Amino acid sequence: MNANTPITSVITDRDQDMLIGGKRVPAVSGQRFETRNPATGELLANVAHGGAEDVDRAVKVAREALSGPWSRMKPAERQAIMLRLADLVEENWDELAMLDTLDLGAPLSRTRLGKVRAGALLRYYAGQATLISGETLANSAPGDVLSHTLKEPIGVVAAINPWNGPIGMSVWKSGPVLATGCTLVMKPAEQTPLSALRFAELCLEAGVPDGVINVVTGLGDAGAALSAHPDVDKIAFTGSTGVGQKIIEAAAPTMKRVTVELGGKSPNIVFADADLDKAVPAAANAVFANAGQICSAGTRLFVQSSIHDEFMERLVEHSRTINVGDPLDPDTQIGPVVSKAQMDRILSFIDGAQGEGARPLLGGARKAGAGYDDGFFVEPTIFGNVTDGMTIAREEIFGPVLSAFSFESVDEVLARANATSFGLGSGVWTRDLATAHKMARGIKAGSVWVNCYQMLDPGVPFGGYKMSGFGRESGPHHIEEYLETKAVWINLD
Ligand code: NDP
Repeated sequence: MNANTPITSVITDRDQDMLIGGKRVPAVSGQRFETRNPATGELLANVAHGGAEDVDRAVKVAREALSGPWSRMKPAERQAIMLRLADLVEENWDELAMLDTLDLGAPLSRTRLGKVRAGALLRYYAGQATLISGETLANSAPGDVLSHTLKEPIGVVAAINPWNGPIGMSVWKSGPVLATGCTLVMKPAEQTPLSALRFAELCLEAGVPDGVINVVTGLGDAGAALSAHPDVDKIAFTGSTGVGQKIIEAAAPTMKRVTVELGGKSPNIVFADADLDKAVPAAANAVFANAGQICSAGTRLFVQSSIHDEFMERLVEHSRTINVGDPLDPDTQIGPVVSKAQMDRILSFIDGAQGEGARPLLGGARKAGAGYDDGFFVEPTIFGNVTDGMTIAREEIFGPVLSAFSFESVDEVLARANATSFGLGSGVWTRDLATAHKMARGIKAGSVWVNCYQMLDPGVPFGGYKMSGFGRESGPHHIEEYLETKAVWINLD
C-alpha cells in the first residue's frame, strides 16, 4: 500500500456497521451518519448510528461474555491471544494507519509511526496478564486465621474515545481489558470511527471470543447511554473536561468506577542554559504535532528573558518550514484539523487573542489556496505578547496555536506554570540538575519531561492532576484500575 492507495482499497464497504457479539450489525434504528475526510471533504463511509438500544444490546453481550469461555481462560491463554493480536495489528498497520489518515487527517508520516507503540502496548499488556496476583497478608485476628486477597476482573468496561488518535486509543483502552479478563464496549468518536471497527475485527481474528470486544458507533448520546447504563461496571474516558464531568455524574447512581483523561494547557519551560538546538524544534513539535490536537501539547511556552528574543526568532524560523498539506503526501508534517467545527473553534480563539492584544509572530489564519480550500487546514500559529490572564493562555484550544511568555526566575515560572486548572503534561529544558529537580518536584502535572517532550511508554503511567482528570494509563497502575480486590479470611482453628 502506498500514499496513492485509493480509498476503496481500505474502505471496501461504504456502509460501516457496528461490531457487537462478534458480528457486524447495523443500528436498531437503521440510521447512519457520515464520516468525511477532513483534508478534502470527501465522504468516506456511512456509519451505523448507534443509540441507547444498541448500547443496551452491546452491554448485554459484554455481560454474557464475562461468564463465557473468556472467564475460564488461563492468564497464559489470554496472553497468547494478545500476542497474536499484536502481530496482527502490526501486519495490518498500513491499513490501520491509512484509515486514521483518511478519517482524522493526520499525515501518513505520523500514523505510520504509531505501529511501534501499538505493538509495544499490546505486548506490554500481554505480559501483565500473567502477573496479576493477590497477596497473603499478616493479620492480628485471634486464633489461626489466614488472610489473602484475590484480584478479580472489574467486569464490563465502557471506553469512550476522542478523535485525536483513534487506533492508538483503541489499543490503549483494550490492552488492560484483555489482560485482566474484563469485557469491553467501546464508543469511538463520531469523527473517527473506522479504525476501531477494523481493530475489533482483528481481535476476533486473534482469537478473542465473541462479545469480549464490542464497538458501538454513534454520537454523544450513545456515549451518554453507555455512561449511564446500570450494567456497566467501569468507564474509561478520554476527551474534554466538560464531557468528563457529565460522565462522572452519569456514573454516580450505580457507583461505576471511572477514570478520566481530560484536557490540558501544558507549560513547556526553557531556561537560558538549555541546549537550544534541541529545545527549538522540540518546542515546535510539542504544540504543532497532530495539528495541535494532543491533550498534553505544550501550548504555553515560557522562555527565560535573557534568551527570549533569540529563542523566539529561531522558533518562528523553524516553524515556518513545517510542511502543512495533503496527509497522504509522505513529506507532509501537519495535516488538517479534524472537522470544520474544530477549525472554526480554533480560528475564533485566534481572533479573540488578537482582540485581547496578543501579537501573531507566525500564522494566525486558515490556510488557503489550491489543495487547502476543501479541507480544514490552520496555519501553525505563534503568539507573542501574551499575558497569563488572556483566554488563549488559559483555555485548551486543541489546535496548532502556541502562546509564548518571558520569565525571570525558577520560583516565578513555577508559580505561573501551575496557575492553571489543568495538570497533564509539562516540559523543562535546562542543563542544571538542581533546576531540573526543583521543577520536576514543583510542577503540578501528571508528566514532567526534562530535556524532551511527550515521551510515552507502555510501562510508564500517564494521566492528569486537577481538571486534567484522574487515574493513570500505562504501567502497573493501569492494570489495577481494571481489577477489584477481594479479601478472603480463612479460620484455620
Ligand atoms: P468530547 O469530550 O466532546 O468527546 C469525546 C468522546 O465523548 C466522543 O466519543 C464523544 O462522542 C463522547 N461524548 C460526547 N458527549 C458525551 C456525553 N454526554 N456522554 C458521554 N460521551 C459523550 O471531545 P470532542 O471530540 O468534542 O473535542 C472537544 C474538545 O475536547 C477538544 O477541542 C479538546 O479541547 C478536548 N479533547 C481532549 C482530548 C484529550 O485527549 N484529552 C481529546 C479530544 C478532545 P462524539 O464524538 O459523538 O461527540
